This record gives sequence, structure tokens and C-alpha cells, in this order.
Amino acid sequence: MSLDPGAARAILDACDTLRTEGEAMLMRLTRCPSTLGNEHSALAEMARIYESLGLAPQHVPTVPALLEGHPGFSPPLIAYEGRDNVVAVHRPRSANGRSLVLQGHVDVVPEGAEDEWTTPPFAPEIRNGRMYGRGAGDMKAGIISYVTAFRAMKLAGLQPAAEVQMHSVIEEECTGNGALACMMAMPKCDAVIIPEPGPGLPALYSAEVGVVWAWVTVTGRPAHVRDKQAGVNAVEAAMQIWHRFEAYEREMNRAEHIHPSFRGVNHPVNVNLGTFSGGEWNSSVPTRATLGLRVGVMMGNSAANVRADIEHIVEQARGDAGLKGAKVKLEFKGFMAEPCVFDMKAEIVQIAMRSYAGLTGHDLRHYPATGLTDGRHFALHQGTPVACFGPDAQDIHGIDESVGMDSMHDITRSIALTMAEWCGVEAA
Ligand SMILES: [Zn+2]
Repeated sequence: MSLDPGAARAILDACDTLRTEGEAMLMRLTRCPSTLGNEHSALAEMARIYESLGLAPQHVPTVPALLEGHPGFSPPLIAYEGRDNVVAVHRPRSANGRSLVLQGHVDVVPEGAEDEWTTPPFAPEIRNGRMYGRGAGDMKAGIISYVTAFRAMKLAGLQPAAEVQMHSVIEEECTGNGALACMMAMPKCDAVIIPEPGPGLPALYSAEVGVVWAWVTVTGRPAHVRDKQAGVNAVEAAMQIWHRFEAYEREMNRAEHIHPSFRGVNHPVNVNLGTFSGGEWNSSVPTRATLGLRVGVMMGNSAANVRADIEHIVEQARGDAGLKGAKVKLEFKGFMAEPCVFDMKAEIVQIAMRSYAGLTGHDLRHYPATGLTDGRHFALHQGTPVACFGPDAQDIHGIDESVGMDSMHDITRSIALTMAEWCGVEAA
């Protein structure tokens, strides 16, 4: 159904009116240091925000026992108590339109070296039209965009004429289990919008890689450094194993392994040595070292295949002479996530692209992402079309992460029009 021009005008005017308030909301949400296990302040903030929209926030726990058999489930890193996802549901007076999920993750990755930031990562600041802070771009700006879009409809005296679910979830950055728990707990909707950020420009996700997390722990034989030859150095052994993964990464990026949806993307399959711990003392041959690995999964491949590849690499490494009999343990905790192509012909995607282009005069760039989003759950495991698009963000997962305020406003207005057209509108 097409949107009445008068209603569209009123909604857009309301978005303009609410812009400053939205930026203040983003500031409050970015101030919450919602890294893994510390999401409570951001979840509480989201509950307050939903209440301010006149919606009753409800807790949706992540219960591994209920999710374990699901193909979208990933092995958890930590326990889920006290970290419930927060969901709110708008119900129309008469449901005439199509229902919609607005989804965003509140978790952020660690800030890294805080002393490298221009301003502290959890003390957000706007400079030259950009807000700086950990999570401002990925993806708290997107969350505030959908909240402001909904609020703008209300301010215009309207509301969606269909059910709209808002999901604020944890663990997008390590398992995706928060999104899966909410998807499973709530009734299926007709479409999903996830305002994940674009890569330095506003963009719409056309595809995303899968990801497998693996942990390799090497146990050597400690010795006083004066008897170095008698020991087995766990750190050196671990680095030898890592070199095998570097070779695997080169192999996986060969042209014949790249799916057409990622053609033209430079180095789409990234294998990252993200964490390393090892050793005890500079004058002792180290006993133990652990590699924390993130291995990309190209479209056309599967998480199960990549898991088997990792098992094979580690098995081969065990036989290396250079390891001198060091013990090697392999574990899978965190992402076990499939790659995914989003349907660019889906009507929700078409409406989003048309809305954005109509408002800005620019097309939303299609983005085959070398990282992932929670969108895969809905697209792969529920068969629900997903429009994953968001504002221009820079240095996400890096130092001085930022998001463009004009860009965020464009995304807010686009979501508002897309929601109005998709769901239809009724008097509030
Ligand atoms: Zn994200």
C-alpha cells in the first residue's frame, strides 16, 4: 500500500522535530559500557525507552537448553543469568497492514586501548557532525533511529496499523543467541529491519559471511630458561599453529572459492587471531598458550565445513616436529554462524531503498559484508525477509568509533517511511 503524502510529510516533520532528542538518547545509550556480560545498563536503558513510547518492555531470557537443537545456535561463552533481552510490542487497534520486527543489538565490543581514544570510549561526544564512542555506530545509532522513527509516527498523530515488535538483544558480537532467543519466543512477523551500520557510508547489506570461533590451547613443558632445550615452548608452538591458519586464509580467498555475491570484495574471508594469552615469566619456558580465532565462512561454504577444516588444521599441526610433543586442545565456543545472502527483491528491501533514495537523492549502496549481523537468523532459519541497512559509521571495533549525525537522521526518516508504508498507518 502506498503512503498518503500528507501523512508522509507529517511523519518527516516529526522526525526533524525529534532529531536533537534522538541524539541525546543515543548519547545516553552509548554511555552504557555494554560489553559482553555488562549489558545490563543498556538493557535497562532500552526498557526505559520502550516505556517512554507507551509500550510495556518484556524480558526474553536466552536459555541454551531451549535453543541447542536449533541450527542458528552457537556455543555460549558465558552464562545468561541477569542478561535478559528486552522486547516491546506495539499492537494496532485494527491490524490491517503487515507486521514488522525492528531489531538491534545493545552489546558492544571492548574499547581496546582506551588511552588511544581522543575522548573516552564511553563518554560520547559530538564533533564535526559525528558522535564518537564505542557502540555509537555499531549499532546504537540504528537502535535510536528505529525508536525515533516510531516516536515520529506517534508525534504525527499516527501509528503502525500492524504489530511492530522491537527486539533489543545481547551477543550479536559473539554468538547471536540473544537474537535467536527473541526470534523463537515471539510470533513470526512479515519482515525485519535491522539498522546495522554501513562501512563508512550508509549501506544496505546484500550478503554476509558466516563466522566460526575456535580456541586452540597449547600445553608445552616448562623449564628454567638456562635449560631451554629441555622445555617445550607453548607460545612458539601456538605461533606455529597460527601460521597454518594464515595459509588456510590465503587458500580460502582464492578466486575460485569466492561466491558471486562477494565478487569485487577485497579479501572477503578473514581469519583473525583476535586474542592470545600465554606464558608466565620471561625467564621460564612457557607452559601454556591460547589462540582465540575468528574464521570467516564464505557463501557456498558452511560453518560445519569450516569447523571440520579447523579440526583438520589442528590435527595436522599436532604432528609437526616443531611442536616437540606439545599437547594441543581445540574448543568451539562463540559463533557457529552460517553465511547468508539477503533477498534484494524482497518488498521490504525495495521500500527501504525507494524511501532512502527519495529522501536523499542517493541510492543506498549494496554491501556484501565480510562480517555478520543477526539478520541471518530471520533470513535463513525463519524465512522472513530482512532489510539490514544503517548509517555511515567509521572505525567500528576500532579506536574513535563514530557515526554521522546527518546519516543517522536519513536512516531514521527512511525507517519511518518504510514502516509506515509496510505496516500502513492508523490514527494514534
Ligand atoms: Zn553490529
